[in-house]
Amino acid sequence: MSGEKKVEFHVHKKRIIKNIKIDVDKCNGCRACEVACSLFHARPKYSSNNPARSRVRVIRDLVNDIYVPVFAGEYTPAECLGRDKYVIDGKEYDECAFCRASCPSRDLFKEPDSGLPLSCDMCESDPPIGEPMCVQWCLADALIYEEREEEVEEGVAAGDMEIGVEALIVKYGLEKIAETVGRLSKRDKN
Ligand code: SF4
Ligand code: SF4
Repeated sequence: MSGEKKVEFHVHKKRIIKNIKIDVDKCNGCRACEVACSLFHARPKYSSNNPARSRVRVIRDLVNDIYVPVFAGEYTPAECLGRDKYVIDGKEYDECAFCRASCPSRDLFKEPDSGLPLSCDMCESDPPIGEPMCVQWCLADALIYEEREEEVEEGVAAGDMEIGVEALIVKYGLEKIAETVGRLSKRDKN
């Protein structure tokens, strides 16, 4: 078996965690967020406006007379085996009402023509835009964009050769190894 042994080194990297905080008390149900999102994600950009293509949908909570913006999360290929029912002030809400998933049991968060799942991508684009579109267009300030930096540990796979060289450097020092490699390469040329 010729498979090279793989070992992982761990390196620390910084990454930006993006988050949208939702203040439901401020949401007035104007649905500008849905419009802005569907316009931004239209192909070509801004060519069509269809809230069914939006990655945020505003759900009406009739009992409390509030609107709840729900952001599209991950696609899940199977329906849940157990579902949550929400009871708010005595009114029972549909078990899927506030769920973020795009799943086979409903049409929410699916591209209406193709049926492909939609998920909030925080308006990632090239060139990047400042704040996500839904946040920019929420004039009621119900959506608050936050960024924080987090240090994460990432595994980097290294092959046998890298491990061997690293071990030699640890044992003899980089200078000594470089000097030896230089000497050997001169000898090979002669
Ligand atoms: S734009 Fe803001 S206020 Fe309007 S529905 Fe969306 S979250 Fe609510
Ligand atoms: S952050 Fe961007 S992709 Fe996500 S819901 Fe808002 S506008 Fe849509």
